[in-house]
Amino acid sequence: MYQIIRSRRRTLAIQVRPDGTVVVRAPMRATRAQIEAAVERSGDWIAKHRAKAAATAPRPEERFTEAELRDLAEQLKALLPERLGRWAALLGVTYSRVTVRNQKSRWGSCSAQGNLSFNCLLALAPPEVLDYVVVHELCHRKHMDHSPAFWAEVAKVLPGYDAQRRWLRAQGQVLLRRMTG
Ligand SMILES: [Zn+2]
Repeated sequence: MYQIIRSRRRTLAIQVRPDGTVVVRAPMRATRAQIEAAVERSGDWIAKHRAKAAATAPRPEERFTEAELRDLAEQLKALLPERLGRWAALLGVTYSRVTVRNQKSRWGSCSAQGNLSFNCLLALAPPEVLDYVVVHELCHRKHMDHSPAFWAEVAKVLPGYDAQRRWLRAQGQVLLRRMTG
């Protein structure tokens, strides 16, 4: 996906923002097909610059403030009971205490006692990504490891879970980076 900004410029230019989003600056008359072809041709260049953007530390103004993190935690706390209830019932597992944390490196955890924790940044993730993390942690109630049996359990209820893992590795990493500071 990319954003198109048209202006009275004469040539087409592609830009990768620090947050990894792609912007195409295009002349007024450029057609959708021309823009798509240009993006296609620049695929490698875009990928390289997006990787670089993801590896760069956030500027201070990109870091989440205490107030923002508190707000995200509240949002997530409001979302979790329904998702947890639904998926736990579907998987046939139980859980104990649920906490929401500000974490720099992980999205969730599940203890041997069934205590679950979730990263407050999940409030910013698409619903299907939140569902994946919820299912992942609940599946640890059956398997405390990441064995093939564990992943088979995840795949049983979320066959397309790999797309969500990719989101966490790409966009999710950008969010986690904004947590540092
Ligand atoms: Zn896990």
